[in-house]
Amino acid sequence: MTTTDAAVRVEQLTRVYQTGRSRVDALAGVDVGFGRGTFTAVMGPSGSGKSTLLQTAAGLDRPTSGRVLVGDTDLTRLSETRRTELRRTRIGFVFQAFNLIGALTVEENIVLPLRLAAVRPDRDWLARVVERVGLADRLHHRPAALSGGQQQRVAIARALATRPEVIFCDEPTGALDSHTAAEVLTLLRAVVDEHGLTVVMVTHDPVAASYADRVLVLADGRIVGDLPQLGAARIAEHLASLDRRAAR
Ligand code: ADP
Ligand code: MG
Repeated sequence: MTTTDAAVRVEQLTRVYQTGRSRVDALAGVDVGFGRGTFTAVMGPSGSGKSTLLQTAAGLDRPTSGRVLVGDTDLTRLSETRRTELRRTRIGFVFQAFNLIGALTVEENIVLPLRLAAVRPDRDWLARVVERVGLADRLHHRPAALSGGQQQRVAIARALATRPEVIFCDEPTGALDSHTAAEVLTLLRAVVDEHGLTVVMVTHDPVAASYADRVLVLADGRIVGDLPQLGAARIAEHLASLDRRAAR
Protein backbone atom coordinates (compact mmCIF):
# COMPACT_ATOMS: atom_id res chain seq x y z
CA MET A 1 0.00 0.00 0.00
CA THR A 2 1.46 3.39 -0.94
CA THR A 3 1.32 6.36 1.39
CA THR A 4 -1.59 7.94 -0.43
CA ASP A 5 -3.88 4.86 -0.18
CA ALA A 6 -3.46 4.79 3.55
CA ALA A 7 -5.28 7.11 5.96
CA VAL A 8 -2.51 6.34 8.42
CA ARG A 9 0.72 4.46 7.97
CA VAL A 10 3.43 3.65 10.51
CA GLU A 11 6.95 2.72 9.46
CA GLN A 12 9.61 0.99 11.54
CA LEU A 13 7.80 2.14 14.64
CA THR A 14 9.44 1.50 18.01
CA ARG A 15 8.52 2.62 21.50
CA VAL A 16 10.83 1.85 24.38
CA TYR A 17 9.79 2.43 27.99
CA GLN A 18 12.73 2.82 30.27
CA THR A 19 12.00 2.81 33.99
CA GLY A 20 15.10 2.72 36.12
CA ARG A 21 17.12 -0.22 34.85
CA SER A 22 14.28 -2.10 33.24
CA ARG A 23 13.55 -1.60 29.58
CA VAL A 24 10.39 -2.62 27.75
CA ASP A 25 10.19 -2.67 23.97
CA ALA A 26 6.47 -1.97 23.76
CA LEU A 27 6.76 -1.66 19.96
CA ALA A 28 9.70 -3.42 18.35
CA GLY A 29 9.48 -2.31 14.70
CA VAL A 30 5.94 -2.15 13.37
CA ASP A 31 5.15 -1.41 9.70
CA VAL A 32 1.51 -1.16 8.78
CA GLY A 33 -0.87 0.97 6.74
CA PHE A 34 -4.56 1.47 7.42
CA GLY A 35 -6.38 1.89 4.10
CA ARG A 36 -8.94 4.67 3.73
CA GLY A 37 -12.47 3.49 4.40
CA THR A 38 -11.40 0.27 6.11
CA PHE A 39 -12.10 -1.18 9.56
CA THR A 40 -9.16 -2.95 11.24
CA ALA A 41 -9.23 -4.88 14.52
CA VAL A 42 -6.00 -5.08 16.52
CA MET A 43 -5.70 -8.14 18.75
CA GLY A 44 -3.02 -9.86 20.80
CA PRO A 45 -2.23 -10.77 24.40
CA SER A 46 -2.23 -8.22 27.20
CA GLY A 47 1.04 -6.26 27.11
CA SER A 48 1.66 -6.96 23.39
CA GLY A 49 1.71 -3.25 22.50
CA LYS A 50 -1.81 -2.67 21.19
CA SER A 51 -2.50 0.49 23.21
CA THR A 52 0.99 1.81 22.51
CA LEU A 53 0.46 1.30 18.76
CA LEU A 54 -2.83 3.20 18.88
CA GLN A 55 -1.48 6.03 21.00
CA THR A 56 1.61 6.59 18.89
CA ALA A 57 -0.35 6.30 15.62
CA ALA A 58 -2.86 8.83 17.00
CA GLY A 59 -0.21 11.29 18.10
CA LEU A 60 -1.10 10.95 21.79
CA ASP A 61 2.37 9.55 22.45
CA ARG A 62 5.68 9.91 20.64
CA PRO A 63 7.48 6.86 19.26
CA THR A 64 11.12 6.25 20.16
CA SER A 65 11.91 5.86 16.45
CA GLY A 66 10.11 5.42 13.16
CA ARG A 67 7.52 7.46 11.32
CA VAL A 68 3.78 8.03 11.62
CA LEU A 69 2.15 9.32 8.45
CA VAL A 70 -1.36 10.76 8.56
CA GLY A 71 -2.10 11.20 4.87
CA ASP A 72 1.18 12.70 3.71
CA THR A 73 2.04 14.41 6.99
CA ASP A 74 4.74 12.86 9.16
CA LEU A 75 3.51 13.36 12.74
CA THR A 76 6.94 12.68 14.18
CA ARG A 77 8.42 15.73 12.44
CA LEU A 78 5.84 18.16 13.76
CA SER A 79 6.27 20.43 16.76
CA GLU A 80 4.19 19.61 19.83
CA THR A 81 1.75 22.41 18.93
CA ARG A 82 1.27 21.33 15.32
CA ARG A 83 0.93 17.69 16.34
CA THR A 84 -1.79 18.60 18.85
CA GLU A 85 -3.55 20.66 16.20
CA LEU A 86 -3.44 17.80 13.70
CA ARG A 87 -4.60 15.30 16.31
CA ARG A 88 -7.56 17.50 17.25
CA THR A 89 -8.76 18.02 13.69
CA ARG A 90 -7.87 14.87 11.73
CA ILE A 91 -7.91 12.07 14.31
CA GLY A 92 -10.57 10.81 16.71
CA PHE A 93 -9.97 8.59 19.74
CA VAL A 94 -12.41 6.45 21.72
CA PHE A 95 -11.43 4.94 25.08
CA GLN A 96 -12.77 1.92 26.95
CA ALA A 97 -13.83 4.11 29.89
CA PHE A 98 -15.69 6.65 27.66
CA ASN A 99 -13.79 9.61 29.24
CA LEU A 100 -16.72 12.00 28.99
CA ILE A 101 -16.79 15.18 31.03
CA GLY A 102 -19.46 14.77 33.70
CA ALA A 103 -20.15 18.48 34.17
CA LEU A 104 -20.97 18.98 30.49
CA THR A 105 -24.11 17.95 28.63
CA VAL A 106 -24.05 15.36 25.85
CA GLU A 107 -24.07 18.12 23.25
CA GLU A 108 -21.26 20.03 24.98
CA ASN A 109 -19.18 16.85 25.17
CA ILE A 110 -19.71 16.17 21.47
CA VAL A 111 -18.63 19.65 20.33
CA LEU A 112 -15.73 19.93 22.77
CA PRO A 113 -13.07 18.91 20.20
CA LEU A 114 -14.31 21.68 17.90
CA ARG A 115 -13.98 24.24 20.68
CA LEU A 116 -10.51 22.99 21.61
CA ALA A 117 -9.41 23.13 17.98
CA ALA A 118 -11.15 26.51 17.55
CA VAL A 119 -12.78 25.31 14.35
CA ARG A 120 -16.26 26.29 13.28
CA PRO A 121 -18.77 23.44 13.61
CA ASP A 122 -20.10 21.97 10.39
CA ARG A 123 -23.76 21.97 11.47
CA ASP A 124 -24.89 19.51 8.77
CA TRP A 125 -22.22 17.02 9.68
CA LEU A 126 -22.93 17.31 13.41
CA ALA A 127 -26.64 16.77 12.82
CA ARG A 128 -25.84 13.64 10.81
CA VAL A 129 -23.50 12.37 13.53
CA VAL A 130 -26.06 12.95 16.30
CA GLU A 131 -28.71 11.25 14.19
CA ARG A 132 -26.40 8.34 13.33
CA VAL A 133 -25.47 7.65 16.96
CA GLY A 134 -29.14 7.93 17.98
CA LEU A 135 -28.73 10.65 20.60
CA ALA A 136 -30.94 13.42 19.25
CA ASP A 137 -33.26 13.21 22.29
CA ARG A 138 -30.42 13.07 24.82
CA LEU A 139 -28.44 16.18 23.88
CA HIS A 140 -29.23 18.10 27.07
CA HIS A 141 -28.65 15.21 29.48
CA ARG A 142 -25.48 14.78 31.50
CA PRO A 143 -23.45 11.60 30.83
CA ALA A 144 -24.31 10.16 34.28
CA ALA A 145 -27.96 9.97 33.22
CA LEU A 146 -27.10 7.67 30.32
CA SER A 147 -26.41 3.93 30.06
CA GLY A 148 -22.90 2.68 29.29
CA GLY A 149 -23.78 2.03 25.66
CA GLN A 150 -25.25 5.52 25.28
CA GLN A 151 -22.15 7.05 26.89
CA GLN A 152 -19.91 5.21 24.45
CA ARG A 153 -22.08 6.45 21.59
CA VAL A 154 -21.54 10.01 22.88
CA ALA A 155 -17.79 9.32 22.91
CA ILE A 156 -17.98 8.08 19.31
CA ALA A 157 -19.96 11.17 18.28
CA ARG A 158 -17.31 13.31 19.97
CA ALA A 159 -14.59 11.45 18.06
CA LEU A 160 -16.49 12.12 14.82
CA ALA A 161 -17.27 15.80 15.48
CA THR A 162 -14.39 17.24 13.49
CA ARG A 163 -15.01 14.78 10.65
CA PRO A 164 -11.61 13.15 11.14
CA GLU A 165 -9.95 10.85 8.61
CA VAL A 166 -9.46 8.09 11.12
CA ILE A 167 -10.76 7.07 14.52
CA PHE A 168 -8.80 4.89 16.90
CA CYS A 169 -10.77 2.93 19.51
CA ASP A 170 -9.00 1.19 22.40
CA GLU A 171 -11.27 -1.63 23.61
CA PRO A 172 -14.42 0.46 23.04
CA THR A 173 -16.71 -2.41 24.02
CA GLY A 174 -14.58 -3.67 26.93
CA ALA A 175 -16.92 -2.18 29.54
CA LEU A 176 -20.19 -3.09 27.78
CA ASP A 177 -22.47 -6.12 27.85
CA SER A 178 -22.67 -8.10 24.61
CA HIS A 179 -25.97 -6.59 23.43
CA THR A 180 -24.77 -3.01 23.97
CA ALA A 181 -21.40 -3.90 22.46
CA ALA A 182 -23.16 -5.10 19.31
CA GLU A 183 -24.89 -1.70 18.99
CA VAL A 184 -21.58 0.14 19.29
CA LEU A 185 -19.87 -2.18 16.78
CA THR A 186 -22.72 -1.80 14.31
CA LEU A 187 -22.30 1.96 14.65
CA LEU A 188 -18.54 1.78 13.96
CA ARG A 189 -19.19 -0.47 10.96
CA ALA A 190 -21.75 2.05 9.63
CA VAL A 191 -19.33 4.94 10.07
CA VAL A 192 -16.92 3.10 7.76
CA ASP A 193 -19.52 1.95 5.22
CA GLU A 194 -21.62 5.12 5.04
CA HIS A 195 -19.06 7.86 5.60
CA GLY A 196 -15.86 6.23 4.34
CA LEU A 197 -14.04 6.80 7.62
CA THR A 198 -11.12 4.65 8.67
CA VAL A 199 -11.50 2.81 11.97
CA VAL A 200 -8.76 1.03 13.92
CA MET A 201 -10.04 -0.80 17.00
CA VAL A 202 -8.25 -2.78 19.70
CA THR A 203 -10.30 -5.66 21.04
CA HIS A 204 -9.88 -8.95 22.92
CA ASP A 205 -13.18 -10.26 21.63
CA PRO A 206 -13.26 -12.33 18.41
CA VAL A 207 -16.94 -11.42 17.96
CA ALA A 208 -16.05 -7.70 18.06
CA ALA A 209 -13.15 -8.34 15.65
CA SER A 210 -15.51 -10.06 13.23
CA TYR A 211 -17.09 -6.64 12.46
CA ALA A 212 -13.75 -5.53 10.97
CA ASP A 213 -12.37 -6.09 7.45
CA ARG A 214 -8.99 -7.12 8.70
CA VAL A 215 -7.44 -8.44 11.91
CA LEU A 216 -3.91 -7.54 12.94
CA VAL A 217 -2.37 -9.65 15.67
CA LEU A 218 0.43 -8.28 17.86
CA ALA A 219 2.79 -10.18 20.14
CA ASP A 220 5.76 -8.68 21.96
CA GLY A 221 5.54 -5.40 20.07
CA ARG A 222 5.50 -7.00 16.61
CA ILE A 223 2.85 -7.89 14.07
CA VAL A 224 2.55 -11.67 14.02
CA GLY A 225 -0.67 -11.94 12.04
CA ASP A 226 -2.46 -9.90 9.38
CA LEU A 227 -5.68 -11.66 8.48
CA PRO A 228 -8.60 -10.86 6.23
CA GLN A 229 -12.11 -10.99 7.71
CA LEU A 230 -12.64 -14.57 8.82
CA GLY A 231 -15.61 -14.69 11.16
CA ALA A 232 -15.46 -14.91 14.94
CA ALA A 233 -14.86 -18.69 15.14
CA ARG A 234 -11.87 -18.66 12.75
CA ILE A 235 -10.39 -15.59 14.51
CA ALA A 236 -10.64 -17.36 17.87
CA GLU A 237 -9.04 -20.49 16.33
CA HIS A 238 -6.19 -18.46 14.90
CA LEU A 239 -5.49 -16.73 18.25
CA ALA A 240 -5.49 -20.12 19.99
CA SER A 241 -2.98 -21.51 17.47
CA LEU A 242 -0.69 -18.51 18.08
CA ASP A 243 -0.93 -19.17 21.83
CA ARG A 244 0.01 -22.83 21.30
CA ARG A 245 2.99 -21.79 19.17
CA ALA A 246 4.10 -19.26 21.82
CA ALA A 247 3.79 -21.88 24.57
CA ARG A 248 6.06 -24.33 22.75
P1 ADP B 1 -1.58 -3.81 25.45
O1 ADP B 1 -2.43 -2.63 25.15
O2 ADP B 1 -1.41 -4.75 24.31
O3 ADP B 1 -2.03 -4.54 26.68
P2 ADP B 1 0.47 -1.83 26.04
O4 ADP B 1 0.71 -1.14 24.75
O5 ADP B 1 -0.36 -1.13 27.04
O6 ADP B 1 -0.09 -3.30 25.76
O7 ADP B 1 1.87 -2.15 26.73
C1 ADP B 1 2.95 -2.76 26.05
C2 ADP B 1 4.10 -2.95 27.01
O8 ADP B 1 4.61 -1.67 27.40
C3 ADP B 1 3.73 -3.66 28.30
O9 ADP B 1 4.82 -4.46 28.70
C4 ADP B 1 3.52 -2.52 29.28
O10 ADP B 1 3.77 -2.93 30.60
C5 ADP B 1 4.54 -1.51 28.80
N1 ADP B 1 4.11 -0.11 29.08
C6 ADP B 1 3.02 0.50 28.57
N2 ADP B 1 2.94 1.77 29.00
C7 ADP B 1 4.00 1.96 29.82
C8 ADP B 1 4.49 3.08 30.60
N3 ADP B 1 3.84 4.26 30.59
N4 ADP B 1 5.62 2.90 31.30
C9 ADP B 1 6.30 1.72 31.30
N5 ADP B 1 5.88 0.65 30.60
C10 ADP B 1 4.77 0.75 29.87
MG1 MG C 1 -4.17 -1.90 26.08
